[in-house]
Amino acid sequence: MVSAAAVMAVEADEPAGMKETPLWWDDVPPPDILRQEPPATADVAIVGSGYTGLNAALETARGGRSTVVFDAESAGWGCSSRNGGQVSTSIKPSLEALARRHGAERAQAIHDEGAASLAWIKDFIAREKIDCDFRQCGRFHAAHTPQAYDTLMRKVAPLTKGDDPIAVAVPRSEQRRELGSDHYYGGVVYPHHAVLHPAKYHKGLLDRARQAGAQVIPHCPVLAIERDGKGFRLTTPSGTTRAGQVLVATNGYSSKLMPWLRRRLIPIGSYIIATEPLEPALVDHLFPTDRIASDTCRVIYYYRASPDRRRIVFGGRVSASETNPKISAPRLQRELARRFPELQASGISHSWLGTVAYCFDELAHCGVHEGIHYSAGYCGSGVGMASYLGMRTGQRLLGHAEGKTAFDGLPFPTRPLYNGTPWFLPAIVALYRRLDEFESSRAHARDGD
Ligand SMILES: Cc1cc2nc3c(=O)[nH]c(=O)nc-3n(C[C@H](O)[C@H](O)[C@H](O)COP(=O)(O)OP(=O)(O)OC[C@H]3O[C@@H](n4cnc5c(N)ncnc54)[C@H](O)[C@@H]3O)c2cc1C
Repeated sequence: MVSAAAVMAVEADEPAGMKETPLWWDDVPPPDILRQEPPATADVAIVGSGYTGLNAALETARGGRSTVVFDAESAGWGCSSRNGGQVSTSIKPSLEALARRHGAERAQAIHDEGAASLAWIKDFIAREKIDCDFRQCGRFHAAHTPQAYDTLMRKVAPLTKGDDPIAVAVPRSEQRRELGSDHYYGGVVYPHHAVLHPAKYHKGLLDRARQAGAQVIPHCPVLAIERDGKGFRLTTPSGTTRAGQVLVATNGYSSKLMPWLRRRLIPIGSYIIATEPLEPALVDHLFPTDRIASDTCRVIYYYRASPDRRRIVFGGRVSASETNPKISAPRLQRELARRFPELQASGISHSWLGTVAYCFDELAHCGVHEGIHYSAGYCGSGVGMASYLGMRTGQRLLGHAEGKTAFDGLPFPTRPLYNGTPWFLPAIVALYRRLDEFESSRAHARDGD
C-alpha cells in the first residue's frame, strides 16, 4: 500500500529523502546559544543577527559599547546562513543609469563602494582568520542570448582594459574553457569576484562578535521599538531593554517593527538546491576553472560547485508566487539540467529558500530614520555588501567619520499605497520568466539546437 505522504511526494515530483534545510547547515548547524533574559540596558541594541547585524555588533563591541543583538530565530537563521556564497560587487544599476539619477560623481562613488565591499570582505576574512572556504575564484556571468552578450560587452568594455582587468570577455567559442555548457552565448568573467561557505562565515562572525563582548539573544523577537527619553525601549516576550542606539538589521524579514523601512523593501523568496554528490571528474568537466556562475536572465540563475567540489549548488526563482522547497526542487533541477544535460538524472539532496529584500531603485540603503539606524535592501547580493554596510553602520554608531558611505542621504523610494506586501510581484516575475524563456528558446531555435 502506498502512503498518503508518498503520493504527495510523487505528485510534487519531490526527490526522496531530500532535506529542506540548507546544505551549509550539514557542516554548521544553527548555533545552540542559550536563551537569555534581555539586559535591562545596553548602549547599542541590534535587531537581526545576520551579516549586517553581526558586523555592526563587532564594531560597536570592540569600540567599547555594550551591545545586544536580538534574533527572532536562531542566530543567523535568515539569509546569512542560506545564501549561495557568491561574493560580488553587489551594485546592480549601471554607472550610466546611476549618473542619470544621481549625477556622475555620486554614481562613481556608489560603484566604488561596490568594489570596496569586495576588497574589504576579502581583507576582513584574512585579517580575522575566519575559516570559511573563501576563495577569489572569479565569476562567469553568462549571456542567455546573443543580444544579451552584445549588451554585456557594451557594458563591460571600459572594464576590460589594463593588466588586471575588472572584466574579461569570453566569446561563445571559448565558453567551454569556463563552463561545461553550450546553453549560453558567451559571457564575461569578473576575476575578482569570490566565493565562501555562508554558514562558516556566519559562525566566524558570531564567534568574534561574542568574544568582543556582544550579547547575542536568539529566539527573542523584538516586538516594538519606542522612544524613551534620549534613547529607545525595545520590547520582547522575555522583557525589555533600554538602549541608547538601535540598529534594525532585518532585511528580507523586516516586519511592522519599523513600518517606514518595510514600505521601502520588497521581500522576495530565493530558492536553491544542492545535488547529491557527483563524480569528481564530472564536476571538473562542468566547472573547469572552479569559478562561480550566474546569467543575464531577468530572473537570474546563480550556481557553483560546493566547497568540496562534490555537488552543484543551483539557485534561482522558479515560480511567480512564493512556493515551498518541495515544489521548487524539481523545477530548479529542470533548469539545472537545461544548462548541464549530464545532470538530468542527478539526485537532489537539499532544497531550501530564504527571503531577500529588493528596493525600488535596485540599490542598498543605509542611514538613520527617526533616530533608528537601518541597513538593508541588498537586492539578492548581500554577502559582501551587508557585511560592509553592517561594518560601516557600526562605525557610524560609534560616531566615527569612517562610517560615512556613498549611500548616505540617497532618496529611499517607496510607492503610493505600498505597505511591504508585494502584491505586484507574481505578475512581474511571470512576465520576466516568460520573456527570458522566449528569448532563450528563440536563440536556440536559430542555432538549430
Ligand atoms: C537562497 C539565497 C541565496 C542567496 N545567494 C546570495 C549570493 O550568492 N551572494 C550574495 O551576495 N547574496 C546572496 N543572497 C543574499 C544575502 O544572503 C543577503 O543579502 C544577506 O545575507 C543579508 O544579511 P542580513 O544580515 O541583512 O539579513 P538576514 O541574514 O536575512 O538576517 C535578518 C535577521 O533578522 C531577524 N529578524 C527579523 N525580524 C526580527 C525581529 N522583529 N526581532 C528579532 N529578529 C528579527 C531574522 O530572523 C533574520 O535572522 C542570497 C539569499 C538567499 C535567500
